[in-house]
Amino acid sequence: MMLMFCAVVGVLLAGCFGGFYVLLSREVHAQLDRQLLEAARPVISDLKTDPADEDDVNQLDLPGEYFALLDSSGHILQRSKNLQARVIPPGAIRWESSRTAFHTLADGGRGRLRLAVIPFRRGNREVLLAVAAPTSEADRILETFRGIVLILLPLSLLVTALVSTWYVGKSLTPIATFTRHAERMTEQASNSNPQDLWQPLPVKTPRDELGRLAETFNRLFDRVASALGQLRQFASDASHELRTPLSVLRGETELLLSEPRQPEEYQEALRVIDSELKKLSRIVEGLFTLSMADAGQLRLACDPLYVNEVLEAACVLLTPLAQAKNIAIERDLRRDYPYLGDEVFLRQLFMIFLENAVKYSPPNTSIKVDLEDGDGTMRVRFEDQGTGIPPEHQAHIFDRFYRVEQPGCSEARPGEIPSGGLGLAIAYAIARAMGGSIDCRSELGAGSTFAVNLPLHR
Ligand code: ADP
Repeated sequence: MMLMFCAVVGVLLAGCFGGFYVLLSREVHAQLDRQLLEAARPVISDLKTDPADEDDVNQLDLPGEYFALLDSSGHILQRSKNLQARVIPPGAIRWESSRTAFHTLADGGRGRLRLAVIPFRRGNREVLLAVAAPTSEADRILETFRGIVLILLPLSLLVTALVSTWYVGKSLTPIATFTRHAERMTEQASNSNPQDLWQPLPVKTPRDELGRLAETFNRLFDRVASALGQLRQFASDASHELRTPLSVLRGETELLLSEPRQPEEYQEALRVIDSELKKLSRIVEGLFTLSMADAGQLRLACDPLYVNEVLEAACVLLTPLAQAKNIAIERDLRRDYPYLGDEVFLRQLFMIFLENAVKYSPPNTSIKVDLEDGDGTMRVRFEDQGTGIPPEHQAHIFDRFYRVEQPGCSEARPGEIPSGGLGLAIAYAIARAMGGSIDCRSELGAGSTFAVNLPLHR
């Protein structure tokens, strides 16, 4: 991994230095070309002002700068003093176009020369001024640069490798700690309670990426641990709830079978068995609805219906139970409220609130049911004059199997609605599946109001 990283960095560094070298070399040669043009300018100007002078260039003797005047066919007319002794091979000075041209020539064992060939008119003749200078200075700069690169490249690679080894090692330390932590938890996982199992990951620097990662994991595992805890609690509550009716059923059947009985005794026992079986099937159906909702598989139909009609049907179904306690269900549901939804689940939802209102209201009271829409929401309210819910319990009434023990409301008598602690949990799950919410306002001894808010467009 590290070798690979160093190889990549090496290639990148070599590329950078190479690019830099090319740019430097171009700039150095461009600078030399500019120098040649600068040196040529006054000479050309002299030659132009006095076209008859045949000795202008011959008298020039500048160190490191060579001049020659040629006619358009390449024949040398004049040359500077430092060129007098030199043999300029024919064709060495080439000129192909009407513009200034630059060449680099070998200087017979003395290095190289940069040559500028500048065409201009002298009097009525087309002539060329050739200016040359040795490239030794530019070559020296480039050679020095190459030497520096040869030292700098391996050195920077070495420093990069050292720094990255140190940095990567330092950055990975928290991950190694996380891994050890996770391994310890895996070892304990089989024999612990989920809440005890989870030890939060250490967060040293909450602002960097690993700190944030550890915090996110801590939050995630907190949720998973609490969901697991809820699941265990749910399973133990469910088995507890199922155990009571089952033991009543077993007791009744054992008693019946222990000796021959009178027909009235059989009837009485069958009534008890029937009531316990109803309780059981209610719990099982409730658990099924909740598990479907938890799995996101509560399949809700999307049929056109009138909410007022579904609500009226639920009120009619509850009327016999309400009448048994002389409770009036007051409603005015004549206006049509069109809605797209699932009639069966809607009725189940409304029945839960109506059942509770009847169950927890004293005789000779009334329950108000009303329906309104606005702001894209349908609001159904159930207001009773019942026992009310103590404030400390209000936050928990939507939990599964949560019941507020109230004096006089312990066991349902035959014909009454049994209390299983699942009603509001199911109502909450259905309302959520419909994209809605439930509000509850309750005052102890004065009554409760439950409101279901359902969005009209989803
Ligand atoms: P249960 O089957 O016990 O009614 P729910 O989940 O429907 O279960 O209700 C949970 C608890 O909330 C009930 O035990 C009851 O104490 C309280 N509750 C619900 N509705 C009302 C109401 N309308 N008036 C008073 N208490 C209520």
